[in-house]
Amino acid sequence: MISVFGSANMDLVAYVSTAPRRGETVTGRAFRAVPGGKGANQAIAVARAGAGAAFLGAVGADEFGPVLREALAGAGVDVTRLRTVPGPSGIAHIVVDGDGGNSIIVIPGANGTVTGPDAADLAAIRRSDALLLQLELPMDAVVAAATQAEVPVVLTPAPARELPGELLAAVGLLIPNEHEAAALTGLADPQESLAALLDLVPEVVITLGAAGAIYGSRSGERARVPAPPVRAVDTTAAGDTFAGALAVARAEGRPHRDALRFATAAAALSVQREGAGPSMPARAEIEATLA
Ligand code: ATP
Repeated sequence: MISVFGSANMDLVAYVSTAPRRGETVTGRAFRAVPGGKGANQAIAVARAGAGAAFLGAVGADEFGPVLREALAGAGVDVTRLRTVPGPSGIAHIVVDGDGGNSIIVIPGANGTVTGPDAADLAAIRRSDALLLQLELPMDAVVAAATQAEVPVVLTPAPARELPGELLAAVGLLIPNEHEAAALTGLADPQESLAALLDLVPEVVITLGAAGAIYGSRSGERARVPAPPVRAVDTTAAGDTFAGALAVARAEGRPHRDALRFATAAAALSVQREGAGPSMPARAEIEATLA
């Protein structure tokens, strides 16, 4: 069982050839409203990748709240600790361009009301093999969860913000993408960033998009895993799919390189499909590409 304490958003996704510049109006080719949010995405990725997943967070009392709840429950995620709060659900306004790249505006809604875990939340977290965190909840809530978890804490530091020392001290594995790694360290080169981040946390994976991922640990291990060459149609939630699948493989005790290959295979499958939650591959599909 893996717990995810994080955000649930309704993703309002516009597909266009070229994203509009300021003052410009463009005609898109499709629109979809799809359940997302980094926390919910990671929880669904965990469940699809074959482990028990519990999601802790909040949705709003609007038309999106039940849709988000059902998306999690329907994927097999335990939503016992998911609250419904007054006001709107979180929204992510996403533009996906013709190359499969994206730009995103997040409006926190219910996610912004989440405070630290209560006693029942903590009991659920402490029964887990790991706690997955991201930065779409208020920082105080993230810090409170990390520092009280008493199980291995995995942090996806997105969206990029400054990380309090208290949070870093509680994190076992940090999974930034290359932009977040550069923002955290001020170093453009991922290998240099990796070394600098290992001064802050014991293990680091930097995801490199189509170039795969690099891993390092304070004990001196290093690994580079290339991504399989695929045609990317939508990279939304590639990082979340990667983090969820990696957590599952690590919870199963797989060696680092195998766990990275599992996560890289899962993420490569997800970028070949549109949307967030619905794009996440099932375990059998991941295993099939590794066979
Ligand atoms: P996002 O914010 O879109 O969810 P991210 O920026 O957090 O993603 P990336 O580093 O872009 O994270 O991608 C995460 C992982 O997804 C990569 O390490 C890689 O394994 C996989 N991936 C991303 N893009 C591609 C691609 N074009 N082809 C194959 N795999 C990809």
